Amino acid sequence: MSAGSGPPRIAVIPVRSGVLPSGAQETIAEAGGAALLAGSGTAEAAAALAVDAASVATAEIGEPAFGGWAAALAPLLAPYRAILLPASPDGRDLAPRLAAVMDRPLLAGATEYRDDEVRLARYGGLILDHVTADGPVVVTLQPGVRGTEPRTRDLPAPEPAAVKIPDGHDAAVLAVSPPDPGTMDLAESKRIMAGGAGLRGPGDFRLLARVAAAIGASMGATRVVADQGWVAHERYIGTTGVAVDPDLYIALGISGAIQHVTGLGAPRHVVSVNTDPSCPMMAMADLALVTDAPGLLEALARRLGIEPDAGAGEPEPAGARGQEASHG
Ligand SMILES: Cc1cc2nc3c(=O)[nH]c(=O)nc-3n(C[C@H](O)[C@H](O)[C@H](O)COP(=O)(O)OP(=O)(O)OC[C@H]3O[C@@H](n4cnc5c(N)ncnc54)[C@H](O)[C@@H]3O)c2cc1C
Repeated sequence: MSAGSGPPRIAVIPVRSGVLPSGAQETIAEAGGAALLAGSGTAEAAAALAVDAASVATAEIGEPAFGGWAAALAPLLAPYRAILLPASPDGRDLAPRLAAVMDRPLLAGATEYRDDEVRLARYGGLILDHVTADGPVVVTLQPGVRGTEPRTRDLPAPEPAAVKIPDGHDAAVLAVSPPDPGTMDLAESKRIMAGGAGLRGPGDFRLLARVAAAIGASMGATRVVADQGWVAHERYIGTTGVAVDPDLYIALGISGAIQHVTGLGAPRHVVSVNTDPSCPMMAMADLALVTDAPGLLEALARRLGIEPDAGAGEPEPAGARGQEASHG
C-alpha cells in the first residue's frame, strides 16, 4: 500500500457492521488515501467510501476486541511511520493500544497531520499545539474539523488482509447495549436537536432533552447556553466545542454564528426555528420556521405526549446558574 508523497502513512478505521465511524473519510484523506478497514462488514464499508482512496485493505476481524486487534494489526502496520485513526469512540479505544503494542507515542486529538507536522487541539480547543514527530507515531484526528473533497475516481478493489486475533487480550463482551441518544457522544449522533439563546432557560433545555429523546435525537446547544450553565459543556457544538456530523440537525433559537456552524459537519437536513428569518441558521436550513422556538418546543412536546415540567420556561434564579451540568 502506498500513501502518496511524504512519510508513509495509513488510516486505520474501526468498522462495526459495515458502518464507518465519524471522521473516517477525513482520516483517509489525511492519510493520502491509504486505508485499512478493520472490524465487521469491512467490504460494505469500503464500498461506501466517499473520498478518493489509493489503496484499501480490509481485515474482517469481527466485533471490537481492541487489545487483540492491536496485537494482530501491529505487524501489518509496522512499515508505516504515521498511523492515523479517527478520534471516534472506537478510534480512541484502538489508538492507545496500537501505540502501546508498537511502542510509539500517541498524539491524541489532532486537527491536522502533514508530513510529520501535527497540530493538537488542547484546553477545549482554546490552544493549538504544534508538534513535529521525530519518529513513528500513532495519531487520532478530531472528526468534523477538516472536511473532505468529494470522490473523483473509482475506488480500488479492497485487498483482504489475513489477520488472526490472538486470545487473552480482552475482556469477554457479554452484551452490547444500543446507545442512548441522551447520553451518547454528540460526535457520533446522527440526529441532533439543539437549542440556543432563543430558548428561555434551563427549564426549556430539560424539555428539549426529553423531546429530543422521544424522536431518537441527542440534545445539543450553543456555547452561549453552555456558558450560562444551562447545559453541560460537552453538549455545545462548534469550533471550541464538539464537532458533529449528523444527518438531521434541528436548531431552536440558534443564530448560526460561524463558530457554531463550523462544528456542524455537513448535515443532510437542517431545520431551523427562529423569529429572525434572515439569520445565518435560517439561510442554511432546508426547512426554516419563523416562529417562537419555546412555543414550538412546547407544542411538539404536547404532540408527543410529554408534559412540560412545572419549571419549563422559568428563567433560572441567578444564584442557581451552573447547577445544570448533569442532564442530557
Ligand atoms: C473564540 C470564540 C469561540 C467560540 N466558539 C463557539 C463554539 O464552539 N460554539 C458556539 O456555539 N459558539 C461559539 N462561540 C460563540 C458564538 O460566536 C456565538 O455567540 C454563539 O454561537 C451564539 O449562540 P446562540 O445562537 O445561542 O445565541 P445568539 O447569537 O444570541 O442567537 C440567538 C438566536 O435566537 C433567536 N431568538 C430569540 N428569541 C427567539 C424566540 N423566542 N424564538 C425563536 N428564536 C429566537 C434570535 O433571533 C437569534 O437568532 C465562540 C465565540 C468566540 C469569540
